[in-house]
Amino acid sequence: MAKERTLSIIKPDATRRNLTGAINAKIEGAGLRIIAQKRVKWKKKDAETFYKVHKERPFYKDLVKFMTSGPIVIQVLEGEKAVAKYRDVMGATNPANANKGTIRKEFAESIEANSVHGSDSADNAKKEIKLCFKAAEIVG
Ligand code: UDP
Repeated sequence: MAKERTLSIIKPDATRRNLTGAINAKIEGAGLRIIAQKRVKWKKKDAETFYKVHKERPFYKDLVKFMTSGPIVIQVLEGEKAVAKYRDVMGATNPANANKGTIRKEFAESIEANSVHGSDSADNAKKEIKLCFKAAEIVG
């Protein structure tokens, strides 16, 4: 089975509560490999560019504010069906609807501060990875 890659972001609510290791344990426990990882603090422009698909949504402005409120950890994950697998490990956008054992059920604070981002398709994963990493930063 071909390996696939997806982009993950550990969001400011999670880094603030020192949950990077706990989230990485869930990722690796699901059989996904962290093949790139960096801790950064986004400027307004970075968050606006990353979330530009949501520009017209009512939550966009607050989301940009939240994503620039503290450090984030951006990762590339690799594995079989990595995009769908990570969406399963993350759980539903709203933690109230997330399944037991998922990252969002266990750690998310709210529908906005929901601890993690994961690409929603293989195409978007490619675009997001290219936006966030240089090829040499990814070591598969
Ligand atoms: N979001 C929000 N309010 C909403 C829906 C989404 O603040 O009503 C935020 C939340 O942080 C979410 C992000 O916007 O993770 C992107 O939304 P999307 O619908 O793409 O959800 P995801 O793919 O992250 O589950």
